[in-house]
Amino acid sequence: MANTKKKCRHCKAFALVETGVTVPLGFYCTKEHAVDHQQAKAMSAVSKIRAKATQLAKKDIKARKQALKSLGQLHKEAQPEFNKYIRLRDKGQPCISCQRYHTGQNHAGHFLSIGSSPELRYVENNVHLQCSVCNNHLSGNQLLYRVNLINKIGIKAVELLEGPQEPQRYRRDDIISIKAKYKAKVKELTINLEGAA
Ligand SMILES: [Zn+2]
Ligand SMILES: [Zn+2]
Repeated sequence: MANTKKKCRHCKAFALVETGVTVPLGFYCTKEHAVDHQQAKAMSAVSKIRAKATQLAKKDIKARKQALKSLGQLHKEAQPEFNKYIRLRDKGQPCISCQRYHTGQNHAGHFLSIGSSPELRYVENNVHLQCSVCNNHLSGNQLLYRVNLINKIGIKAVELLEGPQEPQRYRRDDIISIKAKYKAKVKELTINLEGAA
């Protein structure tokens, strides 16, 4: 067996078997390399455990923060996602109320307001692209909104919105999943719009 060479697991160099050390884990060119290799392995195991612990702690903090949010805060996060979806859905269409095509800021305007009809705040038929003038300064320009909404979705759908509604008791999980749902829909629409452009 003289002159037989083996690869050191630590430095990857080939060394004579008779001058190296063979331990249950394999061959090393020197005792030092055997020790160094084991230490390096132990260190990387420790740092992996540390990284995992940090990751878990972050996740935990996020979950706790989420649990501390009020329903109002959760709505404040979900509504912009929903509204963003509406603006994308109606992209290229005129303001639902004044029918102007307008290059300025466009809003997602609720036909029946969140204040008066909270159960319709995330109902797609109830929310349409609206110019900032109608939305902010003309209180939604309600009469014209209704006329044009009938043209857009039909009188039956409008009357359904205006009719009695099941009271909605949004639970935390409901609002969290509404946010996630519209985030995904926005992503999907953005990809489709980019594909079409
Ligand atoms: Zn070595
Ligand atoms: Zn308008």
